[in-house]
Amino acid sequence: MSAAQPASIKVHKTSGTTMEIAWKDGHQSTYTFTYLRDACPCAMCNEERVKDHREPGQPPAPDTSNPLQMFKPQLRPTEVAQVGNYAIRFNWNDGHQHGIFSWDYLREWCPCDECRAARHADDDLEQDIDNHPPRVQ
Ligand SMILES: [Zn+2]
Ligand SMILES: [Zn+2]
Repeated sequence: MSAAQPASIKVHKTSGTTMEIAWKDGHQSTYTFTYLRDACPCAMCNEERVKDHREPGQPPAPDTSNPLQMFKPQLRPTEVAQVGNYAIRFNWNDGHQHGIFSWDYLREWCPCDECRAARHADDDLEQDIDNHPPRVQ
């Protein structure tokens, strides 16, 4: 597959809660800001996810020791900037600002049903290969 390229990007920065990407191959992706924040590809967030065994976009388990977290304000980007011609960068209203989302990464983690199913089909396939290794003749 060739590298993912967006045809148009809409970030509903002030009035909405999503970013929409129309891809050049005709696919459409809608990401909520919360999803993007939980999918932040920076080293720090990545490490947190690996530690918790989370996929990009999967929210962390609620911290029950701190009930105030339930009243977090709606997550929003305070600034959105394109990085070269390959990525987009967000500054978030929670102070986080180091994540650079490449088009490839965004396309890979597209949260639509179709892409989700495709990702899980891969899981099944890998599991299937693990369970039924090809026979060596
Ligand atoms: Zn991050
Ligand atoms: Zn998709």
